[in-house]
Amino acid sequence: MKYLRMIGLVALFFAFVLPCMVRADVDTPDVLITGNPDFIVSGSTYGQHETEVMEMDKAVNNLIIGVDMEKAEKALVRCYARFRYAETGRWTSYLAFDGEYHFSAIDSVSACQLMFVIRDPERGKTAVRHFSVQGNYLEAKKMEYLMQKPAPFDVKAAWAKPTVVARATWGARAPKSSYTPHTPQRLIVHHSYLPNQASYKGAATIRGIQNYHMDDPKTSWADIGYHFLIGPDGVIYQGRPEGVVGAHCSPNTNSVGICVIGDYDADKDKLNPKIEESLLNVLSWLASTYKIDPKTNLYGHCDFAPKSCPGTVLYQKLPEYREKLLKNIGQ
Ligand SMILES: [Zn+2]
Repeated sequence: MKYLRMIGLVALFFAFVLPCMVRADVDTPDVLITGNPDFIVSGSTYGQHETEVMEMDKAVNNLIIGVDMEKAEKALVRCYARFRYAETGRWTSYLAFDGEYHFSAIDSVSACQLMFVIRDPERGKTAVRHFSVQGNYLEAKKMEYLMQKPAPFDVKAAWAKPTVVARATWGARAPKSSYTPHTPQRLIVHHSYLPNQASYKGAATIRGIQNYHMDDPKTSWADIGYHFLIGPDGVIYQGRPEGVVGAHCSPNTNSVGICVIGDYDADKDKLNPKIEESLLNVLSWLASTYKIDPKTNLYGHCDFAPKSCPGTVLYQKLPEYREKLLKNIGQ
């Protein structure tokens, strides 16, 4: 009986719930730990809370930690994370962060611990409500390659920045915490999968993706994960600034994520000339500005994760795009 009920619920989920959800094709984590510490400091100038050691089912070498909090006006909250290496059992020291933390290493870790420190001269009420730890494993050889600084690409012609809809124009929420700066070295193309082209409603869709990335308890990220999003109408939206670490594909540090709204697996949404023109303009501008070699550093999400993103149709176009980019800015 229990079994039947479960099948019923699963069928219901796929029939009704899933199509309504925003998926925005985020990484499916190998490890997901969430917690609700409900650590509250009120009427006091200082408080400190340390979680227990959280063991992971699988050793991972890429992690994103997101923290949700309600801050009193003058309160300062520092978050700290430390990690235990799977092989040696050694712990890192506590590493400080603001509200979103990115960990990437060649060696895997199998446990982590978090600590929160609140200081408030005005003794207001500050609460750390929720955290999420998402971990992914990427083979050591790949991580070694990705953590090297690529040779600078000899750009022959600069490419003008295309028109990009600013965050204020699409009604972006402010990020929950400060960003981590990085230097763009890789361009990674995604599709949103859901929302697909039929459910695209301009700026409202971009706000929906941002809400999902910031509010879903599994992610709890500081902001929308991507740096750029492109609608089926060819409109380009600014996500996070490209000079800061995003949350779209491990390892996120040094990667710029560009998401094409739609589902580009076979026999689903169609690519159109407006989308392709905007995508090529964004990619050409990023590659020329940051001296990124399109031959070696233009990827699809599926080059890093066992999923079809950016969809088989869009992924098969990448070799053609590399050639076009080289024509635009290179040889
Ligand atoms: Zn993706």
